[in-house]
Amino acid sequence: MEKRVLVLNMDHSPIAVITVQKAFVLIFLDKATCLSHYEGMEVRTVNEVFSYPAVLRLNEYKNIPFRGVLLNRNNLFRRDKGACQYCGSKKNLTIDHVIPRSKGGKTNWMNLITACNRCNVLKGDKTPEQSGLVLQSKPFKPSLVFFLSEYAERQAEEWLPFLGVKAY
Ligand SMILES: [Zn+2]
Repeated sequence: MEKRVLVLNMDHSPIAVITVQKAFVLIFLDKATCLSHYEGMEVRTVNEVFSYPAVLRLNEYKNIPFRGVLLNRNNLFRRDKGACQYCGSKKNLTIDHVIPRSKGGKTNWMNLITACNRCNVLKGDKTPEQSGLVLQSKPFKPSLVFFLSEYAERQAEEWLPFLGVKAY
C-alpha cells in the first residue's frame, strides 16, 4: 500500500497529508525539505531509487487558515473509536443527536455521537437523562492533530515525533 506524507509548515505545525507523488514535486521544486523517511521503503523510477519520504517541512511559511476537521459520518465514528458511546457496542452503528433535534439539539461535534442502533431506538426522541442512557465520554471537537495521530499510530509511526505524540 502507498504511504501518505505528512506536511509541516515552516514553524513545524502539521498542515496537510499528501501523496508521495506530490511530495516529490514539492522536494524537486525546492518548496519543501524532507525531515523523515519511511524505513525500509523506497520509490523507484526508471533510472533511480529514492528513499520514501514520510514527513516534509515547507521551506516558506504558508498562512493557511485551518477550517477544522470535516464533520461527517466517517470522522465521527473515528473520533468515537467506532463504538457506541452509550453501551460500547461496535455493531450497527448510527449517529445520535444527544439533545434531539426536536428539542433544539444542534448538528455539530458537541451534540453528535456514535450510537448503536439498539441504543438509538431505546433513546428515541428523548435526552440521555430521560431515557436512562449514560454517555461514556463527553463529545468533543477533534483537532487535525487528533486525526493525524490516529492515522500515524496505525500507518505511519514516523510521524509521531512531529505530532507531539509518544511512539509506543
Ligand atoms: Zn449502544
